[in-house]
Amino acid sequence: MIIVLFGKPGAGKGTQAPLLAAALGVPTLATGDELRAAIKAGTELGREAKSFMDRGDLVPDAVILGIIKQALAEPRAAKGVLLDGVVRTVPQAEGLAKVAAELGTKVDAVLAFDIDDDEIVRRLASRVMCESCQTPYTGRAPGTACDKCGGTLVRRKDDEPEAIRNRLAVYDRQTRPVLDWYKQHGTKVAVIDAVGSVQDVTARALGVLAG
Ligand code: AMP
Repeated sequence: MIIVLFGKPGAGKGTQAPLLAAALGVPTLATGDELRAAIKAGTELGREAKSFMDRGDLVPDAVILGIIKQALAEPRAAKGVLLDGVVRTVPQAEGLAKVAAELGTKVDAVLAFDIDDDEIVRRLASRVMCESCQTPYTGRAPGTACDKCGGTLVRRKDDEPEAIRNRLAVYDRQTRPVLDWYKQHGTKVAVIDAVGSVQDVTARALGVLAG
């Protein structure tokens, strides 16, 4: 089972991913988390990705496809995987389809979290993230402690207004067309209202997957 969580930055993919993954019994792959961890660890991958990420631009497809390929081949992904923040371009959709086919699997559904830009800007302006475990929070003060691991909550550099504007433009230009690609290729695409309580959105997503 491969499920793609899709939507604009700030739509709630990173909040929903662990909740949905726990309910479905599969691991998550969040490419943004992988890249931020690589930057923190000072690896070559991190050095390659950093400038793209700070501006709010997409990291090259070849880099992302390398991460996908490695993650899908891991034993823990044998039952499936929930993808958070990937697929973001049509070449990524094509590459993922190829890797999945080689492993005898495919993308079963795309859950498209729907939210308008005003709400996104409001959410991202008050978003912080744990610098250790990357759990996102809205409305918490930077410098306070993460509920899950006690790490420090920090603002993301790409949540500054200029980078947010760029990320929304990048979404329109490069990411939105991915939905049509999946529809044209016969993959189930479910639009989920992403406004409401965390629990309500989780219930909507699980309802769609059960239906
Ligand atoms: P996220 O945490 O999903 O908001 O991702 C943060 C940043 O990481 C994005 O703005 C991109 O620069 C980069 N990134 C994460 N996932 C991808 C992807 N699938 N394709 C290209 N860039 C990505």
